[in-house]
Amino acid sequence: MNKRVLVKFSGEALAGAEGYGIDTKILDYIAEEIKSLVENGIEVAIVIGGGNIIRGVTAAADGVIKRTSADYMGMLGTVINGVAMQEALEYKGLNARLQTAIKMEEIAEPFIVRKALRHFEKGRVVIFGAGTGNPYFTTDTGATLRATEIGACMLIKATKVNGVYDKDPMKYSDAKKLDILSYDRALEDQIKVMDDTAIALAKDNKLPIAVTNMNEKGNLLRIVQGDYSKCSIVK
Ligand code: UDP
Repeated sequence: MNKRVLVKFSGEALAGAEGYGIDTKILDYIAEEIKSLVENGIEVAIVIGGGNIIRGVTAAADGVIKRTSADYMGMLGTVINGVAMQEALEYKGLNARLQTAIKMEEIAEPFIVRKALRHFEKGRVVIFGAGTGNPYFTTDTGATLRATEIGACMLIKATKVNGVYDKDPMKYSDAKKLDILSYDRALEDQIKVMDDTAIALAKDNKLPIAVTNMNEKGNLLRIVQGDYSKCSIVK
């Protein structure tokens, strides 16, 4: 197993109790978790969603804003989060670079895989913004795509839950955590680890996905050190 991972955070995770915008305390917490990976010799890439700012489907719901435009707005939201994450990482003394799938060179580098690989060699954390750069996709798919492109050994989906359950643990007290599950199982309606496009891409490229609770300190490091007790693995 190489030592390169991509960690995906949802945009909502950054919002804190407000449910909207960016809580710098959470940014700081995430940066600390990422720092522990870097200090342990791990090459780290990050993808952050944009749900704390705008979601294409929701913004386009009443038809005033076209879906494609709403999706571009969503992608811009991920860049806002990416700039914030870059700052938080540098505040912690790490070197970070934001690369975007849509060119906006005053703000970030354009996504160039070779350049990203060079950043890893130099110990920099690379944040990939603007998802795939295309409407009708999600940042989960963007994360899977980038993880595959950079040859990450694993995609870690950092969430609010401890892993994947056989049914909704919020609704059913007898819901069981699944330690390991197949890509096909991960596609099932009641499980839905990520959207179908993301799972299909991970399956095609045999990219393992770890689902873990980002709010439990040390979970990311545990996973990269091979301790899977605090996550579920899709493979
Ligand atoms: N988006 C898109 N193409 C992509 C990635 C994202 O159009 O490749 C848009 C889409 O509108 C999405 C929004 O950006 O709703 C924010 O991303 P996402 O919903 O994946 O964020 P998360 O749920 O992880 O916060």
